[in-house]
Amino acid sequence: MLARRVLELKPSATLTITAKAKELRSKGINVIGFGAGEPDFDTPDFIKEACYRALKEGKTKYAPSAGIPELREAIAEKLFRENSLNYSPSEIVISSGAKMILFLILMAVLNEGEEVIVLSPFWVTYPEQIRILGGIPKVVKLPEETGFVPDPDAIKEAITEKTKLIILNYPNNPTGALYGREVLEKIAEICLEKNLLVISDECYESFVYEGDFVSFASLDEKLKDITFTVNAFSKTFSMTGWRVGYVACPERYAKVIANLNSQTVSNVTTFAQYGALEALKNPAGKEFVNRMKAEFKKRRDTAFDLLRSIDHVSVVKPQGAFYIFPNFSYYSEKVGGDVELAKILLDEGKVACVPGSPFGAEGYMRLSYATSMENVREGIERIGEVLSKLG
Ligand code: PMP
Ligand code: GLU
Repeated sequence: MLARRVLELKPSATLTITAKAKELRSKGINVIGFGAGEPDFDTPDFIKEACYRALKEGKTKYAPSAGIPELREAIAEKLFRENSLNYSPSEIVISSGAKMILFLILMAVLNEGEEVIVLSPFWVTYPEQIRILGGIPKVVKLPEETGFVPDPDAIKEAITEKTKLIILNYPNNPTGALYGREVLEKIAEICLEKNLLVISDECYESFVYEGDFVSFASLDEKLKDITFTVNAFSKTFSMTGWRVGYVACPERYAKVIANLNSQTVSNVTTFAQYGALEALKNPAGKEFVNRMKAEFKKRRDTAFDLLRSIDHVSVVKPQGAFYIFPNFSYYSEKVGGDVELAKILLDEGKVACVPGSPFGAEGYMRLSYATSMENVREGIERIGEVLSKLG
């Protein structure tokens, strides 16, 4: 009796592995978790306290579907200050994490049979959401040799008369690649020429270790009309469980997305929005982000050095986010694929990693270094031991 649209639906591989590692740990098994796509820092107290205050003040009722006005205002200010983006609060909609925001955008613009260009390796959720809505993910592969940075010509070639949209994500999950101004400008030119809409998923903007982060829509005035700038509090302020994400886009789309919100989630948990507001308003927010970033950078350097010293493994140095995506194909081919290899790493090495195939990149493995430095060292050492036994 299930609907056709869910017959092929897969659960989020990243959430599945994270849950599995947590389950094993709760049984007392010493598993090192490289699965989790979330910072290992706690949400800062000043944010939690703003949320308690909101609860005590009775901010416990329905809120406007697009989000509380104060938070939309604070997001508009943040986008102006930090991203050189000029949006009014009426062009901003808040929903339950960037994941729901992405789904609502796709729901708002995608007709059945229309294509969306997705660059692979991609975040696991993009193609699934597109397919649920009857769209077609058009995958453009980004080779390791170019550091997983897109070749604008390859994007151009993938465009057909059915292409509606392209999804960009940098710093990238799972590769950590950052796209520079030059590449983005070429992509922007193509999108404007071919009349494509763009989702720019900027969830990891705060975690950049080399190079400069440039918001896609800030490149050219004309881009504002075709771009959905997506972001969330989840990674930036270590608020993954709070479920607060947002989009900035032209008002004609924002209105529809808010209406979709009103017919689905109604609004993001009211007091959670007050916590998010404090994260943006309090200068301690920036200090917290910088502290996390400095720590992630050290772990990235260690993870990169350790992984590249393993025989037959190649690895691109990630410029941002908190993932590293080594090529383990020499070993995965020996055991029947990367899913099998991830299972061996978990069973024999007690290390949880996410295989590359759900990201569209068979033979790779995603390691999240949002875990302690001690775990980074010990976990990669364990990986090295298991791989060396495979020869
Ligand atoms: N985009 C990317 C690239 C992600 O990695 C994630 C996962 N956190 C999301 C969006 C969704 O974030 P949220 O937790 O805010 O829904
Ligand atoms: N985005 C994170 C990850 O890639 C969280 C898990 C998810 O939302 O799928 O691991």
